[in-house]
Amino acid sequence: MSYMIGLKCRECGRLYPKEVVFVCEYCFGGVEVDYDYDAIRRVLTKTALAARPKSLWRYRELLPIEGDPTVGLFSGFTPLFRAERLAEALGVEELYIKDDSVSHPSLSFKDRVVSIALTRAKELEFDTVACASTGNLANSVAALAARAGLKRYIFIPADLEMGKIIGSLIYRPTLVAVEGTYDEVNRLCAEIGAKYPWAFVNINIRPYYAEGSKTYGFEIAEQLGWRVPQHIVVPAAGGSLITKIAKAFKELKRLGLLEDASTKLYCAQAAGCSPIVNTIQARSDIVKPVKPNTIAKSLAIGNPADGYYATKTVLESGGWAEAVTDDEIIEAMKLLAETEGVFTETAGGVTAAAAKKLIEQGIIPKDESIVICITGNGLKTQEPLMNRLGQAARIKPTLASFESELASQLADVSVRQK
Ligand SMILES: *Cc1c(COP(=O)(O)O)cnc(C)c1O
Repeated sequence: MSYMIGLKCRECGRLYPKEVVFVCEYCFGGVEVDYDYDAIRRVLTKTALAARPKSLWRYRELLPIEGDPTVGLFSGFTPLFRAERLAEALGVEELYIKDDSVSHPSLSFKDRVVSIALTRAKELEFDTVACASTGNLANSVAALAARAGLKRYIFIPADLEMGKIIGSLIYRPTLVAVEGTYDEVNRLCAEIGAKYPWAFVNINIRPYYAEGSKTYGFEIAEQLGWRVPQHIVVPAAGGSLITKIAKAFKELKRLGLLEDASTKLYCAQAAGCSPIVNTIQARSDIVKPVKPNTIAKSLAIGNPADGYYATKTVLESGGWAEAVTDDEIIEAMKLLAETEGVFTETAGGVTAAAAKKLIEQGIIPKDESIVICITGNGLKTQEPLMNRLGQAARIKPTLASFESELASQLADVSVRQK
């Protein structure tokens, strides 16, 4: 049973069949999946949900597939937890982390979009999938396509972190490292996609793919006991996730699962690539492309596909945006690890650092509920941490050697305390 009606242009509202359509032929607007919400309302109740498996497929009526899910059966339903020690460090009362750094199978929120995209690609009878990626999408498409038995072509900028490259190659895709920026990779992929009959998850089947990000929002609401936080800080690359969190809350309200869906959304980007933050801060609706230069490579999209919609979503929610330097990113990664035991990648550092700045500026009030979105794992972006974390204490395998090290550390501490 499918509740997907078809595709609908976000600008002119024109309807399209549920096939491979990604731009409106008439106005060139983006197209989005439309559902039969009245029918969904009758089946998707809190009681029904309570009995379902803890994966992103528990919200399947609101996802763009026609049959049963076939890919990514264990993705989603990552932890959301109260972050008391980080809250104390930031001087706020009620702070939560939604933690996709432990996502199955590839340790980033991209498993959500790829689970849906590949399930849909199989329904549309593709045998080959592909993507243009800043790293995490590459890992996820490579992993999930391997398990689904699909052929896989992955295109990345050549300068990615080792963790992202090894984390793709291990699944034996055809990995193509393009000498250029992500935006150049993406443009090349649009050309390749027009010539080869492949499902480019974030290009020609993007309307289906993008719906997967809603599950991050559904889970936040459900895990908070069917309410939304007053503030959510979200990292942005192409700008899709932030718009889909807003869409998720709106859908839950429409279905009667949320009484109040109003939350302020804040966009976090690195100062070295902040086209969406710039647009929001200028209260403009024209996104000016930039040339990225940041350690937050997974967010380094200079010409964001959903930048316009992300800006609109943030400003309509009453939220705001903040950009952070590479140093602030590293400090925030360390803070998150030291206070909450969460090792996030540079993108998570962007989110945590932006949250810190927004709180310090008084833009996010200290006594209201806040969720910060941690979307990737630190083991994938180790390079910027080299020489930033101190060293292991090196000793001989004897008790005496250990105790002499301990004594010198204690001496160190007492010197520092004076
Ligand atoms: C892709 C990605 C995002 C942002 O996704 P968009 O929907 O393109 O804005 C955030 N965090 C991480 C770690 C990502 O890989």
